[in-house]
Amino acid sequence: MTGESFHIETLAVHAGAAPEPATGAVSPSIHLSTIFERDADGGYSRGYSYQRKANPSRAALETALAALEGGAAAAAFSSGSAATTAIFQTLSRGDHLVLPGDAYYGTRVILSDCLAPWGLEVTYVDVTDLAAVRAAMRPNTRMIWVETPSNPMLKVSDIAALAELAHDNKALCVCDNTLATPVLSRPIPDGADFVVHATTKYIGGHSDILGGVIVTKELGPVFERVKHLQHALGAVPSPFDCWLALRGMRTIALRVRAQASSALELARFLTKHARVTAVHYPGLEDAPGHAIAARQMRGFGGLLSFQVRGGESAAMAVAAKCRLFTRATSFGGIESLIEHRASIEGPGTTTPPDLLRVSVGLEHPADLIADMTQALGP
Ligand SMILES: *Cc1c(COP(=O)(O)O)cnc(C)c1O
Repeated sequence: MTGESFHIETLAVHAGAAPEPATGAVSPSIHLSTIFERDADGGYSRGYSYQRKANPSRAALETALAALEGGAAAAAFSSGSAATTAIFQTLSRGDHLVLPGDAYYGTRVILSDCLAPWGLEVTYVDVTDLAAVRAAMRPNTRMIWVETPSNPMLKVSDIAALAELAHDNKALCVCDNTLATPVLSRPIPDGADFVVHATTKYIGGHSDILGGVIVTKELGPVFERVKHLQHALGAVPSPFDCWLALRGMRTIALRVRAQASSALELARFLTKHARVTAVHYPGLEDAPGHAIAARQMRGFGGLLSFQVRGGESAAMAVAAKCRLFTRATSFGGIESLIEHRASIEGPGTTTPPDLLRVSVGLEHPADLIADMTQALGP
């Protein structure tokens, strides 16, 4: 069950979900065994030898996520950060990569700190400006990294145009699709070579697992390297985490649509509020990325940010007064969250100090707007 033959709702329910041949169990089992029996002749005809290399619970998740993204295969990791690190580790000393200036903060830390001894050349540009990306390309550029919409400024970039630019330079286009989810955006059919996710967010969907995945457009040497890094370095998810991610994934289409619909209502409410100086949400008609988002996405997502009159302390006070929005980091769960982003990102943050980021959950939008009304005050 791969490719474009089914709609995303159907793929989400059925991909990687055949009844188990041995028992007929319809709901998948959690296979805890770290070891698998060898054949009498020394082979592994059933495909499994040791849990770090492969196991049935992880295989089910990988099959499902590959289908959901329209890719050929997937490799699951123990966190989004581990997946991000693995795709960077397919590069070699002296390779150059181009990233959005507002790439996920943790991704920038991986490159500037953890992978510094790896010797990669890194350029951050505004990837919504194609001329700037073109100007940043070098003969040794191997990768363009795309995050759309970006976090927390919700800037939208053109995946097809960036993929074309990458391919013109024999580079790979890798898209972190954590924010948009495959429900709203399908980077591989749009031209990307790899999709990366923190399954921690919308795929898990319930704020109870950490996980990551790399989905590849096609089988080949780079994905083989990814599989080798997954096996050899061992940043793999447990069978239980794979099972939870898969269980969460089954309902992603309904969740994300509801969250996007409520986020649009909340964004429209905020634009009219006297205490709000700016709202960042690609679903608003006058948002800078609205035209690209309307063409590239099927809905605008459940994440938005806004800026509060009165600076950092005023923003903190609004977050403190919220009752339904929980003050916590991350996004993509069933519960609505509010976060003062600059203070969680810490040193080197480029996020405005008066900005609050909201992850819209599955509460009724009228209740969320009522809570925001009382938190913002007159
Ligand atoms: C959360 C996140 C990550 C990192 O995922 P973890 O599971 O927290 O390691 C990477 N990219 C984006 C866009 C994210 O939101």
